[in-house]
Amino acid sequence: MKPILAEILAIGDELLIGQTLDTNSHWISGELDKAGIKTVRRTTVGDTEVEILTAFAEAEKRADIILITGGLGPTSDDLTKPCLAKYFNCEIKIHEEALAEVTEFFKSRGRELTETNRQQAALPVCCEKITNAIGTAPGMWFERNKKVFVSMPGVPHEMKRMMQETVIPKLRKTFALPAILHRIIRTAGIGESFLADKIAGWEKALPPTMKLAFLPGLGEVKLRLTAYGNSREQLYRETDEHIEQLRSLIGNFIYAFEDVELEQVIGQQLRERKLTLAIAESCTGGYLSHLITTIPGSSDYFMGSMIPYAYDIKMRQLGVKPETLERYGAVSEPTIIEMANIVRAKFNTDIGVATSGIAGPGGATPEKPVGTVWIAYSDKHQTVTRKLQLSKDRILNIKLASVAVLNLIRLSMPK
Ligand code: ATP
Repeated sequence: MKPILAEILAIGDELLIGQTLDTNSHWISGELDKAGIKTVRRTTVGDTEVEILTAFAEAEKRADIILITGGLGPTSDDLTKPCLAKYFNCEIKIHEEALAEVTEFFKSRGRELTETNRQQAALPVCCEKITNAIGTAPGMWFERNKKVFVSMPGVPHEMKRMMQETVIPKLRKTFALPAILHRIIRTAGIGESFLADKIAGWEKALPPTMKLAFLPGLGEVKLRLTAYGNSREQLYRETDEHIEQLRSLIGNFIYAFEDVELEQVIGQQLRERKLTLAIAESCTGGYLSHLITTIPGSSDYFMGSMIPYAYDIKMRQLGVKPETLERYGAVSEPTIIEMANIVRAKFNTDIGVATSGIAGPGGATPEKPVGTVWIAYSDKHQTVTRKLQLSKDRILNIKLASVAVLNLIRLSMPK
């Protein structure tokens, strides 16, 4: 089934000078996606006739549907309407039904209808009027050579109402729209390029109706598999098959088959397995605990944490042996093992984890450059450590180390 393509055109100088954020295009893209329409481009142009007419002509070449917002008002800088009349080569005349609606709008508010307001009801004769239920500028629907142009007001709530009540239903009637399905697969512990290499063969074998996108985040990569077809049920079945193949290729890196955060997945696993967790976090300074406690109900499994940031606190409060610290330093495998084991014992939990590293920019040595981080996981069966070599950026290191620990918990906790 051929995808139906749309282009969104936002008109207004205020969008180009950074005065107004173009939220309309963002919202419209989401609505089109839900309706099975593929947005191929979003364009912003100022209140200039030549720019607007050029944008119309270019959009018409690329898309089946051109959705326009803004520039519909009655003032001289609002050029969308005259430009559309020129583009479709037809004159502008008062539309009787639109005039009745504008008149009623002002009457219901006890206000007089001025000539400028009256002009809101003047429309190109070759368009179909779209009623504006909550404003004065009607929308316009044009059709030519199987292409549709829709013009809507710039005011976001007026545009949204028009889209939901009239434009989307009318587009559904005009075009045979395919179903679109997005499947999300969340991975952690593997970089984007390594992941891309690992699944290159699988990606290449996808049918032309499916498309893969890599969306890298901090310490993780989200995969989005988008499929087009006749029905969502069929697309579910088809994508399930491909996702199953993906699982056999990179199963260990996948932590969810839906759009959820790693801390949420771990929380659910800890709760299901009735396991408890304690943390000794040095270089992450509480960020790891923060992530864990953003999940409602985390008190079921998260007992607490210590932030033994200073050398002295690592020894006196947490209980790391002075010999260990003196011999190997705070950022070392022997120290991180003690930290994870001790915090597990002190908090009487099933699992203890710890972080210690050089977040930067200072504190580096030739053997331990900025970004060197040790993390450890401990339970009654095993202690697992990892040495990470992260970035030069302090905040990034804190975040990356925290995600790495979450992933270590996921991979190491008893099944
Ligand atoms: P009206 O006839 O009701 O004035 P209009 O179609 O002429 O509507 P504009 O004058 O371009 O629309 O903009 C009206 C309001 O909507 C302004 O506050 C503007 O900042 C806002 N607006 C316009 N375009 C967008 C957009 N793309 N995203 C978000 N807000 C927008």
